Amino acid sequence: MAGVVNIRRDVDDKFYRYRMPILLTKIEGKGNGIKTVIPNMSDVARALSRPPTYPTKFFGCELGAQTSFDEKNDRYIVNGAHDAVKLRELLDAFIDKFVLCRSCKNPETDLIITKNEEIIRDCKACGERTGVDMRHKLTTFIVKNPPKTMKKSKSSRKGTADGSPSPGANGNENGDAGGDAGAESDDELTRRIKAEAAELNPDAVAITKDDWSVDTSAEAVKARVKAVESRMAAISLSAGGDDDSDEDADSPYSQLGRWIEDNRDIGPVEVYKKAEELGIAKKHKAVQVLAQALFSTDVLAEIPKYAPLFAKMVTSEKHQKSLLGGIERLVGVVHPELVPAVPKILMEFYQADILEEEVVKQWGTHVSKKYVDKEISKKVRKASEPFLKWLDEAEDSEDDDDDE
Ligand SMILES: [Zn+2]
Repeated sequence: MAGVVNIRRDVDDKFYRYRMPILLTKIEGKGNGIKTVIPNMSDVARALSRPPTYPTKFFGCELGAQTSFDEKNDRYIVNGAHDAVKLRELLDAFIDKFVLCRSCKNPETDLIITKNEEIIRDCKACGERTGVDMRHKLTTFIVKNPPKTMKKSKSSRKGTADGSPSPGANGNENGDAGGDAGAESDDELTRRIKAEAAELNPDAVAITKDDWSVDTSAEAVKARVKAVESRMAAISLSAGGDDDSDEDADSPYSQLGRWIEDNRDIGPVEVYKKAEELGIAKKHKAVQVLAQALFSTDVLAEIPKYAPLFAKMVTSEKHQKSLLGGIERLVGVVHPELVPAVPKILMEFYQADILEEEVVKQWGTHVSKKYVDKEISKKVRKASEPFLKWLDEAEDSEDDDDDE
């Protein structure tokens, strides 16, 4: 049967105390439905003191694959065919990033989620509390699904479990993120920006037990973030007006578009910073430019990468309309071959809680020549019909309990 390995596979010591069952895989299904089942995921996860969903989701993030879990029946699945060797390597990476104490490399750690939604490894061996890399996509999942045995930090009175709406529940989060700067519930992009800011100051990451107390450290981190944010806000204020008429080559919008052209494959954080730098990160028109400029014909694969960026920048109905306008130009003018993909593009933005049902419906039923000429506008809306129809049907069967 299954062998046992050191939790740290780089430790070649037969007497190493921390052992786990070797991860097993089983391929099921075929064709498009092929998937990799991890039959002993919960045993492995127990050895790591982590919920089995975490490493499973981690595999999904790293492989760009969908995952699914059925905790009652102990089924943990990664879509696609992945071999055991690869998944074991990824498990090593998970252990390094989310289990081992960053200071002493001991695996006996608990995860703590702070008031600021930062994830800390609390080491039972040496007592250090060390942060995880908040830029990793898994952190969003962990914050939304905190470990059940998690010791809540004293200061997080309102808790994280109830404070964060599940994705796809509804799009209301965008609505009140309007005044941005001091907002408590951070979107993924803000967390990544904070993580970068924290990295510039090593103290924020390697917090030692001596100077650790949840309150002051959280306050300190918050103060640092505030400073970064208000500097950003100042930059955008100084840039002034929001007129629609500046299509000229020197407008910040054109500059943003050109910069993206020159920096293909740039990450969402860098794009956001550039928009901030140009003073247009809060402008609805910037969203339109991004939709036109960021995507290639591989748009469906690219949307998830930039979803945190749009989630942060699309803060009102006006922004959503600009996004739709940008999509119209993308599929109508930049890449006409993408017209058939319109329903899927809309679906991606809808499921990421960036576009709201009402706005899409309104858009889909009103031809407009604001962004493209009338014929193209008609064509794009015609192509969107299956999605609009799906929205109507989804409304009728108000059942959604699935865990991704
Ligand atoms: Zn330690």
